[in-house]
Amino acid sequence: EDRVVSPDETIVDREIELSLRPKILAEYIGQKKVKNNLEIFIEAAKKRSEALDHVLLYGPPGLGKTTLANIIANEMEVDIKTTSGPAIERPGDLAALLTNLRPNDVLFIDEIHRLNRIVEEILYPAMEDYALDIIIGDGPNARSVRLDLPDFTLVGATTRAGLLTSPLRDRFGIMSRLEFYTKEELQRIIFRAAKVLNVEIDEIGALELARRARGTPRIANRLLKRVRDYAQVKGDGVINQEIAEAGLKMLEVDELGLDRIDRKILLTIINKFSGGPVGVNTLAAAISEEEDTIEDVYEPYLLQIGYLNRTPRGRIATELAYEHFDLNYKEE
Ligand code: ADP
Repeated sequence: EDRVVSPDETIVDREIELSLRPKILAEYIGQKKVKNNLEIFIEAAKKRSEALDHVLLYGPPGLGKTTLANIIANEMEVDIKTTSGPAIERPGDLAALLTNLRPNDVLFIDEIHRLNRIVEEILYPAMEDYALDIIIGDGPNARSVRLDLPDFTLVGATTRAGLLTSPLRDRFGIMSRLEFYTKEELQRIIFRAAKVLNVEIDEIGALELARRARGTPRIANRLLKRVRDYAQVKGDGVINQEIAEAGLKMLEVDELGLDRIDRKILLTIINKFSGGPVGVNTLAAAISEEEDTIEDVYEPYLLQIGYLNRTPRGRIATELAYEHFDLNYKEE
């Protein structure tokens, strides 16, 4: 489904995202704490001519993990090789990636929580000792040989740090959690993107898009692109408040950035399950969505704005959610 406020990446996104991606830390808006830390670690590693410590970036999709991985390599003045957890099927795949790195290079593994166990175990000595343990021969003649690897930096990204095994998590020297962006930060991101895309947008128009971007740069950029189309067809191409509002209405994005599926989640909890608690698996079945998608994509923002609560017995819709739909909230 084509969901305009989904933080997941689409193919269209990928093209414009490449052009919109900031290349250096100074252009990376927001995430001040993460940026300040990285700045110091990068400078120190460069002064010592060493590889940067392994970095784990975690947080909901679309917040800038891939962008940051690329910036790290760029600031370190090294190359980056990019792959993802599910793409590395066999130990040989990972060995090939590792042996092709040059000193201090970055290996970026997106969705690192989806590495399979055998591959993950190869990663431990690689991260810790820059070494690869390979088995030569089989049966009684099999023996283990240790190969040296160049020093390198593993940058891992995940939407759910909780799914990482502790031996893997423990091997990251730097762990950075990315937060949702403020609307002012998103407004700046939209202005920057508008400049790159040659779109005319005024302050209030940009703020209107920012307010509805669910704290997520990927969504902000997507709203900009869609509303630009609307502005060109229905207006004179300039995005002001009026055009932004009308365009967003057409896209069924409400004042909070909630779309049809968010509303469905909340209204299902409220109407079918008396406000909850309801288990995420039951909820997933009721609205025909994947459990993982609900947890990774929809829930984080609903939690952030306080419309949804996680309890040991399941999800509940909060009083704020009832108010949003003009419904009466009954305390149990
Ligand atoms: P993730 O890997 O976390 O899913 P990405 O790094 O792919 O997210 O970011 C999605 C898009 O959002 C990028 O292409 C970039 O244009 C934009 N973006 C993300 N973070 C920032 C930021 N801090 N400043 C400016 N643009 C950003």
